[in-house]
Amino acid sequence: MNKTALITGASRGIGKAIAKEFAIQGYDLYLICVSSIELLKEYALELEQAHGIRCLAIQADMGHYDDVAKVFEQIPTLDVLINNAGISYVGLLSDMTPNEWHKVMHTNLDACFYTSKLAIPLMLKSHNGRIINISSVWGNVGASMEVAYSTSKGGVNTFTKALAKELAPSNIQVNAIACGLIDTDMNKCFSPEDLDAVTAEIPADRMGSPEEIARLAYQLATAPTYLTGQILTIDGGWT
Ligand code: NAD
Repeated sequence: MNKTALITGASRGIGKAIAKEFAIQGYDLYLICVSSIELLKEYALELEQAHGIRCLAIQADMGHYDDVAKVFEQIPTLDVLINNAGISYVGLLSDMTPNEWHKVMHTNLDACFYTSKLAIPLMLKSHNGRIINISSVWGNVGASMEVAYSTSKGGVNTFTKALAKELAPSNIQVNAIACGLIDTDMNKCFSPEDLDAVTAEIPADRMGSPEEIARLAYQLATAPTYLTGQILTIDGGWT
């Protein structure tokens, strides 16, 4: 029987690349997206045909517990949970509304609680599991104009470390990947000039690719079980 992985935010960017990597490695997949379900269904079919796996596309808002609970009603076993769905907010904190603040927290941080809460009982049944949270360098060091986003990812980092301690006796490893600047639509809000200016500060002199994050996610899913509670920063030497 194939191993199974659930990947949130899989319709594009990093989540889409992670889905492909795990499909190549022979995992059956549950792929979640909030709004592009037709696109995601097409992608799921493509992965099934190319890699001989089973792949179910599900529409759900990971920031709403009821939606997440409905997703888990469809999942009998789970080996790997990848909390990738996320949104950014770029702007001054003083201009941000409470609703905008809560949306960032619900999507980036609360979702990790919701999915983990529901995945843990499945993983306990097999005394085996991996939870991988896609975080950000801004969760390590904080960014001006991205206070809410930085706070949510800082929360993801601490959530990762604390939950890893709680679950280590049950052979469930919890780690996070703190991404630097990765070439996805999330950065489309920045002008090419702005992106060039940031890239000039990165020692590797380029953005990272979604495929590089996907490879690291798979490596974490297969790493020695003694590796847990870690925030792996992948940023071309930037921070
Ligand atoms: P993206 O905007 O291209 O993709 C985000 C995905 O999350 C999309 O599939 C979107 O549908 C999904 N999503 C958003 N809100 C959702 C919700 N409420 N419920 C379910 N799905 C939802 O972004 P990306 O660059 O691929 O980002 C993926 C992750 O990587 C995010 O957690 C992001 O914070 C993190 N990250 C990205 C960068 C970067 O430079 N791109 C840097 C650091 C961290």
